[in-house]
Amino acid sequence: MSELIPVEEAQARILAAIEPLEAETVPLHQARGRVLAENVEARCTHPPSDISAMDGYAVRTADATAQASLTVIGESAAGRSFDRPLAPGETVRIFTGAPVPSGADAVVIQENVSREGDHATLNEAARMGANIRRKGLDFTKGDVRLAQGRTLNPFDISLAAAMNVPELPVHKRPLIAFFSTGDELVRPGNAPGPDQIVSSNNDGLAALIEAAGGEPVDLGIAADDADVIRATARGARRCHMLVTMGGASVGDHDLVQSALGSDGLTLDFWRIAMRPGKPLMFGSYGPLPMLGLPGNPVSALVCALLFLVPAIRKFQGAEPHNSQTTARLAAPLKANDQRQDYIRACYEREGGMVRVRPFEQQDSSMLSLLAASDCLIVRPPHAPAANTDDPVTILPLWT
Ligand code: AMP
Ligand code: MG
Repeated sequence: MSELIPVEEAQARILAAIEPLEAETVPLHQARGRVLAENVEARCTHPPSDISAMDGYAVRTADATAQASLTVIGESAAGRSFDRPLAPGETVRIFTGAPVPSGADAVVIQENVSREGDHATLNEAARMGANIRRKGLDFTKGDVRLAQGRTLNPFDISLAAAMNVPELPVHKRPLIAFFSTGDELVRPGNAPGPDQIVSSNNDGLAALIEAAGGEPVDLGIAADDADVIRATARGARRCHMLVTMGGASVGDHDLVQSALGSDGLTLDFWRIAMRPGKPLMFGSYGPLPMLGLPGNPVSALVCALLFLVPAIRKFQGAEPHNSQTTARLAAPLKANDQRQDYIRACYEREGGMVRVRPFEQQDSSMLSLLAASDCLIVRPPHAPAANTDDPVTILPLWT
């Protein structure tokens, strides 16, 4: 029997087996959540010229002293500039987003100006550059403002649009094929027989793959039968990775290793020093990386979060990302054994402080507590007992 492998080593060995996919070009409205395959340069300068940041009057600071009375010679609005330079003693009515006329070097906000006919009297002196957004303040043509490896969020999409880049080069999304094993499983929506339960893992895993940027390919449920498992696994042929759930231990009915072992599975490792989810396997199935998750729903999903999500991210060329952070405990924790523990916990807000409270029950079949969790408390192997208010490492979940 092989020894238990530390979580970090297992993660590293999985990532080592995965190569980023090639790039494709997608329009902006399909780019959210995708990972940039190249640096993106601005195709224009923004703002394209000096622009007013406020509604007011464009002035020359040289003659815009307090109580100065200036002659209003025209108007500059967004999209309709005023095309003559300002002479001494002159001002131009100007609006937010409008180009600042040449000669002007400040904008006085309208609240500080008294207007009578063609005359504008300043209530206070203008300050050089006030209320003007300089040409190129945001970016200049050729600037790289979105770098290769970045996962695009809605703000990035807006920035790309502002840079006049209507489509983006992103890595392709990996097709992740998966199936559950178990004679006891039926699909949600069917009436379970006396010895049956509903398969929660297929839909949960599909959603998790989607959330990580992959494309789920659900191969269904395979009975605990070597021939059925082999036939089901072959459905992964055109995908980038195969994931199995259940049947990963060494019980009489845990057949994934033996069934696929005679059909192209080469095991790299199995069994991880963690809880939930010790019986996890990784290897290759023909040319595909293959991950065997435990069947218990909580173990399956927590292991998918720790081992499959980084793999999907690497397929997409994303930078490695560690969202672990620190929080204080709302209740004590016992000393840990040799397995790294991922303890389901919720946030507790009190007096503006957030603390994390571990659930008392941690059974790895309990999806209701997983769904109620805000984070997982990460307890390293042999961590000593911890008291209320002690800092602990947490892995925030979807909240
Ligand atoms: P196994 O890893 O096959 O020994 O399964 C461990 C436990 O998880 C058993 O209680 C199974 O009934 C349960 N289980 C396995 N696969 C699923 C699934 N797809 N959905 C819900 N429970 C499952
Ligand atoms: Mg089973």
